[in-house]
Amino acid sequence: MVTVGIDIGSTTSKCVVMQDGKRILGSALIKGGAGTQKPEMAYELALENAGIKEQDIGLIISTGYGRSTFEKSDANLSELTCHAKGVYFTAPGARTIIDIGGQDVKVMSLNANGKMKSFLMNDKCAAGTGRFLDVMAGILQVSIEDLEVLASKSHQPASISSTCTVFAESEVISQMARGIKLEDIARGICESVAKRVAALSQRIGIEEQVYMSGGVAKNGGVRNALERSLNKPVLYHEDAQYMGAIGAALSAYERLSI
Ligand code: ADP
Repeated sequence: MVTVGIDIGSTTSKCVVMQDGKRILGSALIKGGAGTQKPEMAYELALENAGIKEQDIGLIISTGYGRSTFEKSDANLSELTCHAKGVYFTAPGARTIIDIGGQDVKVMSLNANGKMKSFLMNDKCAAGTGRFLDVMAGILQVSIEDLEVLASKSHQPASISSTCTVFAESEVISQMARGIKLEDIARGICESVAKRVAALSQRIGIEEQVYMSGGVAKNGGVRNALERSLNKPVLYHEDAQYMGAIGAALSAYERLSI
């Protein structure tokens, strides 16, 4: 049975095509999320990559911020459910999941069977999310992909004390004007995100193994800073940004198998 999971996020659309809830046949990730044509494009590209026709699909489940806007989906599920399922599928040893996306942070605690025991979420403030990194990368005039490359050159991270993205923006501009090295500012930005996320994670209680999901997991600067803040290894799968879509495709398969 072929199922499709599509994660329509605030910044990025991710789509995964799976065979029998076991094997990924194809996937696609396109920048641009809810309210754009990108979910449709990601869906079509994922089918093409998988070599699958629409009539071969058993069930489509959507998740993410824009999950109720995708007309082709048969049902939608929360991101919490889908990320937990996706991460547990790729890493059954995961007990804590830290999902940092474009506009929120979620920390989930799983039991040995992959069931969610508890979760915490920050969706009220951009600090500690991908949005914070996107804004700061724009000020430093580097791509989001290159922010970690820049941060890795730093030996003396700048301290970003503002807890608000707008104030932190002014702080970074003033540090640049004072001639503080861009690599030190970049590392300070990664440390700042990690510090906020670590504070949220510690409220739930961190059990190993700790896995990151969501787009920010790709940022080695944030991962390393988070390891230092939590004093624990922080693991991630190379498909970290697809975890919600994988979880949605798995949920679709489970529904068909009942
Ligand atoms: P959403 O589902 O809300 O769209 P994602 O989980 O897709 O969020 O993550 C999007 C965020 O991931 C962006 O805001 C960006 O900061 C971050 N991101 C994406 N790609 C990279 C990368 N290569 N390196 C660092 N950060 C990245």
